[in-house]
Amino acid sequence: MGKKRNARSKKLPVRGMVYFIGAGPGDPELITIRGNKIIKTADLIIYAGSLVNPLILADARADARIMDSSSLTLHEIAGALVKAARQGKTVARVHTGDPSVYGAIAEQIAVLKKEKIPHEVIPGVSSAFAAAASLKKEFTVPGVSQTLIMSRRAGRTSVPERESLASLAAHRSSMAIFLSVNMLEEAVRELIDGGYPQDTPAAVVYRASWPDETVIRGKLSTIAAKVGKEKIRRQAIILVGDVLGETIGEPSRLYASEFKHGFRPAIKGNKNRTAVIAVTRDGAAIGRTILNSIRDAYLFLPEALHKECKGSRISYYDSLAETMEMLFQTRTRVVCIMAAGIAVRMIAPCVKSKWEDPAVVVIDDRGKHVISLLSGHWGGANELAQKLAKLLNGTCVITTASDVRGFPALDLLIKRLGSDGFSKKTLRKIQTNMIGGRPTGFYPAQLRALPGMEEHDNLSFYNSVDELCASGCSAGVVFSHETPSRYAVNERFLFAHPKDIVVGIGCNRGVSAREISESLGTVLNNRGLPLSAIRLMCTSAVKKDEKGLITFAQEQGIPLRFFSPAELNSVPVPSKESPVARRVLGVQGVAEPAAILGSQRGELILNKVKTKNITLALARMAFAVLIRESREDARE
Ligand code: SAH
Repeated sequence: MGKKRNARSKKLPVRGMVYFIGAGPGDPELITIRGNKIIKTADLIIYAGSLVNPLILADARADARIMDSSSLTLHEIAGALVKAARQGKTVARVHTGDPSVYGAIAEQIAVLKKEKIPHEVIPGVSSAFAAAASLKKEFTVPGVSQTLIMSRRAGRTSVPERESLASLAAHRSSMAIFLSVNMLEEAVRELIDGGYPQDTPAAVVYRASWPDETVIRGKLSTIAAKVGKEKIRRQAIILVGDVLGETIGEPSRLYASEFKHGFRPAIKGNKNRTAVIAVTRDGAAIGRTILNSIRDAYLFLPEALHKECKGSRISYYDSLAETMEMLFQTRTRVVCIMAAGIAVRMIAPCVKSKWEDPAVVVIDDRGKHVISLLSGHWGGANELAQKLAKLLNGTCVITTASDVRGFPALDLLIKRLGSDGFSKKTLRKIQTNMIGGRPTGFYPAQLRALPGMEEHDNLSFYNSVDELCASGCSAGVVFSHETPSRYAVNERFLFAHPKDIVVGIGCNRGVSAREISESLGTVLNNRGLPLSAIRLMCTSAVKKDEKGLITFAQEQGIPLRFFSPAELNSVPVPSKESPVARRVLGVQGVAEPAAILGSQRGELILNKVKTKNITLALARMAFAVLIRESREDARE
């Protein structure tokens, strides 16, 4: 009772009921139990004969009326629904997949609402999910994509311009494209134009979950031709995205462990992840040894070997070439346990430049030779090879010119001690100058302590930049925050900001990452410091869950370190005690003591400055400490 009577119609409330039921993708076992129950009791069943498996109707009552909607107009369907419901009948309107996806239920529901006919929707398994199941893939692999876009290309039904495939492609997320396989070539063109790289994995699944299901895998660049050969023009779904490739994904929330350890430089992207690929049984055994000694390493095996060798960090691959491509895209360090020739052939299509390519190390499957093959310095292959050779008791093969002559690797030196934004061309010139035995100068003089520096007569070290510039050295490397234009320098002198700035930060609860970015940006700008010169950010232990701060640090790849009240009170600071900090946290202040502590009692170069919600102070780590830390990092 209690339902308001429609004054105009004066009819009794309708006793019948219309159920929109998702029949699932085809396999009659993939309908929900609830959907099946309704079908068992329905007086009238209207189903889309073109896509719904008639076997779903096997449980229908013998006297149920069954209509195929494929030959009916919306008007006729709605009319049938209304009429039956008014007669008190139970109606099952059966749609393929899930009714909410291209089910055209909106207009049917509008009619039912208008006619005050009770109705309910029972969900189903969409073909997008059946297709993913056939491929055994996850649409949302952490670190690869966390979004699934379901869309279609415009056909007879138009698609809003802002949802064109090209504009959706810009996200490079996982995508399921319905109703478009007959326009596959055009769809692919739009997806590539919109932003997916040509080699993005793609698949077409024809009649997912039906006995004649066909799966075609490829890349955006190849899929249309492959599907064309199979003459698939309908009843197929297109899936696109890196998740379809050989993904390993993030084992846990990105950065989580870095934050636990606090002090280690945060890992940006995948640069500290290692993929070990083996092709033989002996190789697999070596791979397992490596897994046991390298954190964040994953072993990839051919499917047959994987069957005998399972483990949480062991996975298998279908295609070595595709796996390699994914690893290069995600800049994962790669250890190939195979003949160097095979490795070279596999990596050849992926190789770009020493600044972009990940480290590639090759090991023969007896572990005798460990070869640093690609990105020896910047990518870290030399260090990785040395470490692995030691682990396996093998011979390490390194061929980079500076290393074989015992010179320091200047690019690595800058990577460890300096911040971004230096001229790579200049660096190359200096490297050539140094290896060629010509006089090369360094500032500050503490650089002398690094391995490979002292043994060479042509390397000299200076206590001031002026001295270095006046020295007659034909090339030089300077770590300084001073502006280089003050000196008479040519392009054989490289000026890099040392990565030695430690930010002490105090902030109000709920401050946004953006506000932090703006305040810090202003403070750094005023001092001519780049953001990349920040080595570490430090704050009070009560900020361990401060979302904006954590987000900012993660986004910038800056490690965060937290200090307890006792620690914050343990160092003298120049500014007056903050009454608020004393009252709320029981400390003399946060920004200044945190910066001083984080810099290992370096020099405070900016006393605290306060904006609305944020207090900042900057300290500089002593160069000797910076060197010591970077050497410890290298040993890690
Ligand atoms: N509601 C449905 C989609 C209906 S639109 C669902 O959730 O799946 C029809 C489109 O769905 C087809 O053009 C095709 O792209 C896709 N489709 C439906 N069933 C499919 C199946 N078994 N295998 C692959 N694609 C299917």
